[in-house]
Order: sequence, then structure tokens, then C-alpha cells
Amino acid sequence: MKGKTVIVTGGAKGIGRAVALAFADEGADIVLNYRSTSPDAVKAEIEARGVKCLAVQADVSAFAEADKLVSEAMNEFGRVDVLVNNAGITRDTLLMRMKEEDFDAVINTNLKGCFNMMRAVTKPMMKQRKGAIINMSSVIGLAGNIGQVNYAASKAGILGMTYSAAKELASRNITCNAVAPGMIATDMTAVLSDKMKEQILQNIPLGRLGQPEEIAQTVLFLAKSEYITGQVITVDGGMVIGR
Ligand code: NDP
Repeated sequence: MKGKTVIVTGGAKGIGRAVALAFADEGADIVLNYRSTSPDAVKAEIEARGVKCLAVQADVSAFAEADKLVSEAMNEFGRVDVLVNNAGITRDTLLMRMKEEDFDAVINTNLKGCFNMMRAVTKPMMKQRKGAIINMSSVIGLAGNIGQVNYAASKAGILGMTYSAAKELASRNITCNAVAPGMIATDMTAVLSDKMKEQILQNIPLGRLGQPEEIAQTVLFLAKSEYITGQVITVDGGMVIGR
């Protein structure tokens, strides 16, 4: 990964932070996108690995901001080799109680944000005739979940987008794949009640939550795998075996 440029959206914490550090460990320069969480601590961790880090504030759900994020990456590094679409939110509630804004917010960030970023990197990657896009889906996009109609729709939508982009971009040597994490220990899952966590754990054959670093290693693997495209790799301790 030495000399390569990797954009990670939502990189200031959780899975995004682990992904950014994993690529930095391999010698890549990092464009660390953040929205409200300060990127300073992760930027320092990245630079301590001897690579460059450009922190860019942008709300990926806004088309113009996603475009500007990629422009800033191009201005700084002159190329974008890998895009990791990691930014995501939840607004969980039962369908009968879900407000329109809960649905729109999740779709706009998770699904449209992913589109906005893919749209913005396509041109530079096509010019390079090389690139890798990795989109963060979820097992919820495969199996559905009570209280997550909005989130499941966004994560299933990401899969459809991944398959289509993989077909469209293959002739330019650009791969597009997805990772579907199960239950990973981050701020996103820290808000769940102990009772709910216990219930979820009972459905994980490996008997524990996943760690952000375990997702990061799969993302790295996909970025390096030049003959894998249009695939989704589930990293879930066995939560959805057989689907
Ligand atoms: P966190 O809540 O810890 O981190 C989410 C990140 O996304 C934050 O850095 C946040 O930035 C950023 N983000 C949210 N909205 C935007 C936006 N509009 N523009 C830019 N950045 C944004 O969650 P995780 O690390 O757990 O999740 C990372 C990804 O993995 C998400 O897509 C999530 O859906 C997915 N995932 C997570 C699972 C889990 O169990 N944790 C399971 C399956 C999938 P800020 O803090 O600045 O708002």
C-alpha cells in the first residue's frame, strides 16, 4: 500500500478508525473524513506510522461535500487508490413509530452518502484505470431486524449498488466490494441495552462481539484482492450462516 491514497469516510472513530490505521500500517497515505468527531487523535496515530494524513470535514450525505472531499484528496495526493465507504448511522425504532425524518436521515447518510462518494471517485479512478471501492454494509441488510427497517433498507441498497458498480467499473480495472459486519464493539452498539446484547450474543456461534480491527483486516484484504469484485464478505462470528 506504500504510495497509495486511501479515503476512509467516518474515520475518526469505531470501524473507520481501525480501517484507517490498518491501511496506515501498510504504508498508505490516508484521507480521513469526519463529520463531528474530532479527527485529531486518529490523525496523530496515523502520522506516528510515518505516513501522511489529510483530515477533511464533510457530510457525505451532501453531494457537493462528498465531491469536495474527493477534490481535496486529489489536490493533496494526486490520486485516489482506495475508497472505503464506512460512514453510517442508525435511527432504530419500530416501523409503526418510525418518523419520516428517521427514514430519510438513515437513507441519506448510509445509502446516498455511499452513492455520492462512489460518484465522486469514479472519474479519477477511471482515469487511473485502477481502483478499489469497499462499501460497509451489514448483516442487517442481508437478514433484516426488528426496529431497523430504515437501516436494513440502506444496507441492502448498498449491496445492489455494489453489484452494479462492480459490473460498470470492471472494464477500467476498478473493483467494488462490500463487507457485512455482524455485531461489532463500537459506539454504535454501545447504546444497546445489556438485555439486547445478551440476546444478540446467543445468536453468535463464536460467542462474542467482533472487534473493529477484524473488520479492518477484511477491508484491507479486499483492497489488495485485484481479482475479487462484486462480492460481499460477511464478518459476523457466524450470525447469518447459510444466507
Ligand atoms: P460509529 O457510530 O462508531 O461511527 C460512525 C462513523 O460514521 C462516525 O465517525 C461518524 O462521524 C460517521 N458519520 C456518520 N454520519 C456521517 C456523515 N453524514 N458524513 C460523514 N461521516 C459520518 O459506528 P461504527 O464504527 O460501528 O460503524 C461504521 C460503519 O459500520 C457504519 O456504516 C455501520 O453502519 C457499519 N456497521 C457497524 C456495525 C456494528 O456492529 N458496529 C455492524 C454492521 C455495520 P461523527 O462521529 O463525526 O458523526
